[in-house]
Amino acid sequence: MDPEIPVLSVLDLGVVRNVETSAGRVALELTPTYTACPANEVIERRVRAALQDAGYSVELRQVLTPPWTTDWISPKGRQRLREAGIAPPRLRREAREAPPRPACPLCGAAETERISQFGSTPCKALHRCLACQEPFDYFKCL
Ligand SMILES: [Zn+2]
Repeated sequence: MDPEIPVLSVLDLGVVRNVETSAGRVALELTPTYTACPANEVIERRVRAALQDAGYSVELRQVLTPPWTTDWISPKGRQRLREAGIAPPRLRREAREAPPRPACPLCGAAETERISQFGSTPCKALHRCLACQEPFDYFKCL
């Protein structure tokens, strides 16, 4: 699971680029999320440990191109974010058309405002719903 957003698995995040298994060995390609995100190192360590605990010898390779984008977060991951009260990132093509003003993940209202460029982690911004008044995190589009 993502150390900063524990409702998301590495598969939900879309950071697993390729997996090959053969006779007790796993070769895994991972793409880091934000380059400055401290979670990447933790993710790598946990993935390696989980596979080793399952009895595999592990070969981890970091893949930097193409760079990760929030578009790779799975539909299930987006649903899990909403359920955790975090507005999921817009798809990049949608975000280009209009500034990101995510719908409230708590009541669904479209009228929201940004309070701060940063939320509980640098990859999120803090917004507030103008209908229910509740603040919520928005996972920024990348
Ligand atoms: Zn609301």
